[in-house]
Amino acid sequence: MRGCLRVVGLGPGAATQVTPQAADALADATDLVGYQTYLDRVAPSAHQRRHASDNREELDRARHALTLAADGARVAVVSSGDPGVFAMAAAVFEAVEMGPQHWRAIDIQIIPGITAMMAAAARIGAPLGHDFCAISLSDNLKPWTLVLRRLEAAATAGFVIALYNPASKARPWQLDAAFDALRLRLPDTTPVMFATAVGRADEHIDVVDLSVAEGNRADMRTLVIIGSRHIRRIARPHGADWLYSPRGVPEDCA
Ligand code: SAH
Repeated sequence: MRGCLRVVGLGPGAATQVTPQAADALADATDLVGYQTYLDRVAPSAHQRRHASDNREELDRARHALTLAADGARVAVVSSGDPGVFAMAAAVFEAVEMGPQHWRAIDIQIIPGITAMMAAAARIGAPLGHDFCAISLSDNLKPWTLVLRRLEAAATAGFVIALYNPASKARPWQLDAAFDALRLRLPDTTPVMFATAVGRADEHIDVVDLSVAEGNRADMRTLVIIGSRHIRRIARPHGADWLYSPRGVPEDCA
């Protein structure tokens, strides 16, 4: 049997946001590899082996999956959201690049999913409707000074910023430091969205002004979107304001 490795995006959480292509890849797999929390989102099947691991062991998990695929298994590595966005696909290719030559012959497919920033943005309008960027606030794999430099450059350049990995128990202060840096560069009234557990039963969404944004509103299930100076608000008679980024920026506002 010829093995293969599919890196599958499960979307942000709602079953309806798993693509048919992802569902097919999961159903076809002989082996599922992933962080336990994500494996729990896949309905059990008697025909599949499950290999759960800790969230921090991404490279080991990738190597394990490649070893299984090289031995003939049809492996699905599961990721939340999109597997190419701060997730397992990059770990798989790092492992391939550093690994034995025969891993390069493995049939690898990346199955995209709805990433957290898209699901979050859709809840409040169209904040990513014009130029935006995504930054992981985690300084586990890159220096904090680089994170800050990128944030400041993005804010100054007028990008809406989607922040992944804004906080965790091990990284409690970084988000407040990020807000402090951004307050020096963006208007006080810049909207900041905290979108927690989007698409899941405990979803919680809040939008506040940058002047009062506090890091303790976020945890590791939160996606933060910080507006640009061009973002627009539309008040509604009921419910929160819509936020959207106009499709262009006039010459005299740039
Ligand atoms: N591959 C994932 C991102 C993994 S990084 C994706 O494409 O969405 C983990 C970070 O993603 C979390 O810290 C959080 O910032 C964000 N995230 C993932 N799922 C989320 C959800 N359902 N709601 C809000 N944020 C989420």
